[in-house]
Amino acid sequence: MGVRGWCARTQEPARAGHGPQAMMSPCVSRFIHRLTQSPAAKQTQAQMSDAPQSPAAPKPNIRLIRKMRVDRIADYTPNIRELFLTMTEPDSFDFRAGQFVMLHVPPKDPAAKPALRAYSIASSEHVKNHYRLVFKYVDTGLASEYVWALKGGETIEFTGPFGRLFFKEPPTEQQIFLNTGSGISQHFSFIESHLEKYPDLTYRLLFGVRTEQDIYYVEELERLKSRLKNFEYEFVLSRPSETWKGKRGYVQNHIDAFDYMKVPSTFYMCGNGAMIKDVKTKLAGDGFDPKMIFAEAFD
Ligand SMILES: Cc1cc2nc3c(=O)[nH]c(=O)nc-3n(C[C@H](O)[C@H](O)[C@H](O)COP(=O)(O)OP(=O)(O)OC[C@H]3O[C@@H](n4cnc5c(N)ncnc54)[C@H](O)[C@@H]3O)c2cc1C
Repeated sequence: MGVRGWCARTQEPARAGHGPQAMMSPCVSRFIHRLTQSPAAKQTQAQMSDAPQSPAAPKPNIRLIRKMRVDRIADYTPNIRELFLTMTEPDSFDFRAGQFVMLHVPPKDPAAKPALRAYSIASSEHVKNHYRLVFKYVDTGLASEYVWALKGGETIEFTGPFGRLFFKEPPTEQQIFLNTGSGISQHFSFIESHLEKYPDLTYRLLFGVRTEQDIYYVEELERLKSRLKNFEYEFVLSRPSETWKGKRGYVQNHIDAFDYMKVPSTFYMCGNGAMIKDVKTKLAGDGFDPKMIFAEAFD
């Protein structure tokens, strides 16, 4: 969780120049330091050292401003938008599932610096020139206003990849994914990137949204289901209508069904920080190994 509290959240402006020669801003520098030196990062590195067959993470060239063309926009709900992107400069981009990019939000004042915001890559790490990013609209948010003004065909700029939260290898028998809002992006990338290598594992996913109208990504999840022997997903609605027959409440209230104390399991959580905190507290109370919990908060 070394990325929490990064300048996207504190609103600290990036002080780097805006171009390929940009110097590393103090903000980015502190961020990279946190990524590599924080206890969380060291813990993740220690976990990674248990995974000899994992390929090394691509070394990020954080000075390079990369460009992507917006090929397609999918508006799944009024608050969720996915951008389908093609790399234009350079023409490919290496990352590992779980990593994110920093979107450079152009300032209204051309003399000002861009605002930087983190977005997890939703597509497979095996695809090198087409990318998917899922956005949740935040009212009056700088990046949200920018992304929701896009019509398609524009070029957007970003740096990355960043992040050290990877799929744990070798994997346990059961993988449990808990996400809310746009947190599905990281988990979709994890599963799509690893399903060919690990088709026989048990994959369970709970996706927390408010109402039936907030449900999205069903086609994508069905596609995963058709490609995996043992993948199940369910939506958990915090404010469903009376006719909703599925799970109600919060995802954290439904994890007991997974028998994680008996079946060797890894937890991946992404999205709402309160959900992550609640699940960690519950798992700690159960005596679950904290080294098998991987979480990224988006808020
Ligand atoms: C590692 C990482 C990966 C992320 N990946 C994604 C992703 O894949 N998709 C995605 O949609 N977001 C993701 N985020 C969150 C994203 O970086 C932005 O914080 C978010 O999109 C809001 O940016 P903004 O410029 O629109 O709002 P801002 O201008 O930053 O904020 C406007 C107001 O909204 C509040 N706010 C900020 N973020 C949230 C939030 N998430 N929920 C509620 N209120 C908020 C702020 O406190 C502020 O008051 C990620 C964050 C991190 C740290």
